[in-house]
Amino acid sequence: MARPATIPADARDGAAAAPVAKPKSVPQRAMEKLGLHRDIDLALHVPLRYEDETRLVAIAELRDGVTAQVQGVVQRCEIQLRNRRQLLVTLADGASDTLLLRFLHFYPSHQKALAEGRCVRVRGEARGGFFGLEMVHPSFKAIDGDLPLATSLTPVYPTSASLPQAYLRRAVASALNRVDLSENVPAELLPSGVVTLRDALRWLHHPPADASLAALEDRSHPAWQRLKFEELLAQQLSQLQAKHERAQQRAPRFKLAAGGLQEKLLAALPFSLTSAQRRVVEEIAADLQRARPDAGRGDATSVPMHRLLQGDVGSGKTVVAALAAAIAIHNGWQCALMAPTEILADQHFRKLVGWLEPLGITTAWLTGSRKGRGRREMLERVASGEAGLVVGTHAVIQDDVQFARLGLAIVDEQHRFGVAQRLALRSKLEQHSLEPHLLMMSATPIPRTLAMTMYADLDISTIDELPPGRTPIVTKLFADSKREAVVARIRDEVAQGKQVYWVCPLIEEAAEGDTAPIKGDARSSRRPFGERPELRNVIDTHQKLTEALPGVGVGLLHGRMKAADKAATMAQFIAGELSVLVATTVIEVGVDVPNASLMVIEHAERFGLSQLHQLRGRVGRGSVASVCVLLYAAPLSDTGKARLKAMAETTDGFEIARRDLEIRGPGEFLGARQSGAALLRFADLNDDLPLLHAARAAAEIMLKEHHDAAERQVQRWLGSKADYLKA
Ligand code: ADP
Ligand code: MG
Repeated sequence: MARPATIPADARDGAAAAPVAKPKSVPQRAMEKLGLHRDIDLALHVPLRYEDETRLVAIAELRDGVTAQVQGVVQRCEIQLRNRRQLLVTLADGASDTLLLRFLHFYPSHQKALAEGRCVRVRGEARGGFFGLEMVHPSFKAIDGDLPLATSLTPVYPTSASLPQAYLRRAVASALNRVDLSENVPAELLPSGVVTLRDALRWLHHPPADASLAALEDRSHPAWQRLKFEELLAQQLSQLQAKHERAQQRAPRFKLAAGGLQEKLLAALPFSLTSAQRRVVEEIAADLQRARPDAGRGDATSVPMHRLLQGDVGSGKTVVAALAAAIAIHNGWQCALMAPTEILADQHFRKLVGWLEPLGITTAWLTGSRKGRGRREMLERVASGEAGLVVGTHAVIQDDVQFARLGLAIVDEQHRFGVAQRLALRSKLEQHSLEPHLLMMSATPIPRTLAMTMYADLDISTIDELPPGRTPIVTKLFADSKREAVVARIRDEVAQGKQVYWVCPLIEEAAEGDTAPIKGDARSSRRPFGERPELRNVIDTHQKLTEALPGVGVGLLHGRMKAADKAATMAQFIAGELSVLVATTVIEVGVDVPNASLMVIEHAERFGLSQLHQLRGRVGRGSVASVCVLLYAAPLSDTGKARLKAMAETTDGFEIARRDLEIRGPGEFLGARQSGAALLRFADLNDDLPLLHAARAAAEIMLKEHHDAAERQVQRWLGSKADYLKA
């Protein structure tokens, strides 16, 4: 499948819109907003729930709180003016019982349709009112002559305000009639007991009156199983295709020379690698020097590496990256290292420069804030090939950056980059006849089930061990009312020469996902200061701590500051000139100050688990015993409690990722990947592992033996979204 050479402006709505002849109606536009472009999209838009319009209940049998359909003759229809103007309609269905219909909003048409003597069928929730049972704003239909009851349950679709349910129902029904639902999957590859896709969808949209609502709700019905299998299959196919495509591409093949740069670097390090670090370096080095399986004589290329290096915060990924860079540079190729924020890029730059420049490697530094001549000089160094190592933010992949010989791209905290940025990186890398190897690093370990699904086309290396001499971080929970005690604790730490972080939530940053391009942290400047209570919060806290800690250097760091000011503050903190750093989550990733021993996180209940773990990882980086204090605003929600409890109970990033997945579900866990993950609408990775295995096995066979059907399957499910999945 061809990838787009440029990124569509609206990367989230990837579906190709057909050329439009006449202007679209409001509901049509609303449908497109919901991603309902093609007939198949509508067919796969399954109901949220169902209404039972297949039977009538006698008024005498109505129960308080139960939704039901009744039919009767209007006895009285009057506008009541007392209290609030409303329309009251009394309905009788024989016997002595009557039902009151109450309309607080109504039009003359209501009065007409519900005039005395009219026969109507109404549906709504019966509630015990002052005058016996009543329904408020029931739906109703006039019965002229004979109106047969529905033969199947009535679907209620997820919709939006500008898309009426009735319109959507008609659209889905006619799409279901038109759409091609022929089978793509050879029968022998289907899990046993599943129904055809056509039957599954027919059943889900219009279940028979006697369908088990329980099986519908818990999604165990064979129709659901089929739908989930289909979805997982499409996703596995697209990932395997990506892997297959990658295997066709060529990257430079590196040699590991004795006495080479990486050996020199190893010898110069002030520590020796942990055995986990050694293992992952070997895995990476093996990728970089592997010959292609089909290599002829003299073929100096290999299959591009596509590897994720995951390791808990502080496990020492940077030095692994440096060693990989050393291998590439030793072979005469350039290495680019990208980090999601300037602060992080800055840290990497200093660390890597400190390691690599003494070995004679020239480095270049590209970020959004470096402009003008400085930038031009850097660009020249990159384009001429003089710079072996290029470090920076997403500025590294901008259009005017030309590499002489890019051989290895390393992306740190890759999940923090948005989908659009990852696609941009990709297309940048694909401009050359030889592609660079790609190493992604993440401190948020991917739970196994996700690794199999969302990241099936990745090889994974794991650092499962921390460098020796670290004392585990102790995590304590404090209600916000105990602030004083926390401030006293800060005084103690500072008196002992230690350093302290105090993190305040900045909701906009935390909740951003991948919708906005990451521009340093300058993105916060979109709104005037006064609208941002969260920013107030960090500034207030800074002021209060400054007052409460006389004689102590208290610094302030947040996204609205200029990059240079941020860097200066950070440098002061690293140098120990500031003892306390009050910051927003700009410090979330990768900041490394080994002397910091106390981390206070304010409003911890507002953070996600992985984010808390990242933040907590800013302390405990040296040998000093470290503490993380989670301040929370009582009372906590159940999820809030579960989260903070998990944080207090474990410091193991893998365990935390597992619980995060459990608490939030895969969609949210994936964060930036959500637009790709959104297509896992049906399958649930916690429950549907057997289906996932079946889909994986089927996908492998289909790609080999039923290539066209495989392609049709991917298109049916993903359409043009397929590219986002691979990002
Ligand atoms: P992360 O995996 O979170 O990116 P870093 O690469 O920043 O971790 O490493 C954390 C700290 O541990 C750094 O100060 C780094 O120099 C140090 N470090 C890395 N590897 C080792 C090791 N094998 N022994 C001792 N210290 C190490
Ligand atoms: Mg790091």
